[in-house]
Amino acid sequence: MLRRFGKLSPCPTKTRFAEFSYGHVRQLYAISIMKIRKNDKVKILVGKDAGKQGKVLMVLKEAGKVVVEGVNIATRHVKPGKVSKEGGIIKIEKPISVSNVMLMCEKCGKAVRVGFSIVGDKKYRVCKKCGEVFGK
Ligand SMILES: [Zn+2]
Repeated sequence: MLRRFGKLSPCPTKTRFAEFSYGHVRQLYAISIMKIRKNDKVKILVGKDAGKQGKVLMVLKEAGKVVVEGVNIATRHVKPGKVSKEGGIIKIEKPISVSNVMLMCEKCGKAVRVGFSIVGDKKYRVCKKCGEVFGK
């Protein structure tokens, strides 16, 4: 059984640990650190939008998902009301799993794996291929 500490909150950065319990066995482990951040350029690896590139609009850390511009678009039929004044058909991006996207490295020009490097007391994401530092 997997139980997460805390509830889904608009600020999920404080929820860093999950508890795993099976019978009398209890274990604490950290929820994987997000390698994708807002405004990152990512490439989609699987699904109907595989191969597409886009900007990350939103990161849903707790759910392990990201919303990418122009990717996984769903069409919604809405009545006139809160969402849209006139109603009609609107297109919205639905979140996709972070494991289905890869960060784009501008120097390499392709999707790369991300590593971490600590400089001073700050942690930076680096390209595993060329060592380019992201979000300096
Ligand atoms: Zn690179």
